[in-house]
Amino acid sequence: MKEDFEKTDVLIIGSGPAGYTAAIYAARADMSPIVIQGLQPGGQLTTTTDVDNYPGYKDGITGPEMMEDFKAQAERFGTDTRWGMVTKVDFSERPFKVEVDEKDTILAETVIIATGASAKWLGMEDEKRLNGYGVSACATCDGFFYKGKEVVVVGAGDTAAEEATYLAKMCTKVTMLVRRDKMRASKAMQHRVFNTPNLEVLFNHNTKSINGEPDAVGVESVTAVNNITNEETVIPASGFFVAIGHKPNSDLFKGQLEMDDSGYLIIEAGTSKTKIPGVFAAGDIADHVYRQAVTSAGTGCMAALDAERFLADQE
Ligand code: NDP
Repeated sequence: MKEDFEKTDVLIIGSGPAGYTAAIYAARADMSPIVIQGLQPGGQLTTTTDVDNYPGYKDGITGPEMMEDFKAQAERFGTDTRWGMVTKVDFSERPFKVEVDEKDTILAETVIIATGASAKWLGMEDEKRLNGYGVSACATCDGFFYKGKEVVVVGAGDTAAEEATYLAKMCTKVTMLVRRDKMRASKAMQHRVFNTPNLEVLFNHNTKSINGEPDAVGVESVTAVNNITNEETVIPASGFFVAIGHKPNSDLFKGQLEMDDSGYLIIEAGTSKTKIPGVFAAGDIADHVYRQAVTSAGTGCMAALDAERFLADQE
């Protein structure tokens, strides 16, 4: 009884910079997009404080305010933004079936997936307590605020190595806590780490506590413990960066779309096209390298243009 279901030309899953930019373009092209916002309306940026690197905001803006602006701009052109979670998709035939909150089904001629990725956390109570008060999972976003200060980075992959060397350019001292006796990062990245004079790597070290209060001062130090000797070290630090990887929010699409070993969606290079015609991906869900608001917005624009051209070709 497909006739009874709500229909749309473009359904956008996710409401970060990629989802809303896709919506702005789709709405301006008269495609009346529906955005299903997902678990974290506004996406990862709603968990950051100041955003200083998004072009156009010359005085900076907070992440939540910026995402309200994105939403308002999308709605100005008629985007239908809805609370809810997409709980099931069926991409086996067009129109695609998208189930929302396990009850409502929408039939979509095209779908733009902009579900993003979530930073992995250590799972410590201190991380939650001090998030936004010195605890961060994005050096490129928040590093600037630690200029001239000392910071700690946890992780040993390429992201951690990249973030630590990035932070070392502006911080007086960076300490990397590596849980094993070696790093997972590529040799080239490790070389960069070991050749950065103000960057110290503590192997076989775990985080015991992040010390400070959720106030104007925030994080003041980090207690690390050597997992072989049990010796504890208190490291003075104003920032604590967790860089232990991201998890793309792609579980919903398993078995229907191609993904790499980490779960990132695979798209045709230089486009937003997945292997299913009419299904497009934008933002962090298909990008583990850049992961910036501005790159996500760019790919959101591409996805809307790809969807528009796809629909035009069907006529
Ligand atoms: P990875 O999964 O490669 O590395 C995660 C790191 O975090 C590992 O070293 C892991 O330690 C450590 N870790 C995980 N859990 C904990 C924990 N609880 N406590 C302490 N440490 C922990 O993730 P990345 O984000 O670094 O990279 C993801 C992918 O993106 C990789 O393929 C990478 O090569 C790629 N990438 C490429 C870049 C580039 O080319 N410029 C830049 C950034 C990423 P352990 O080693 O002990 O498991």
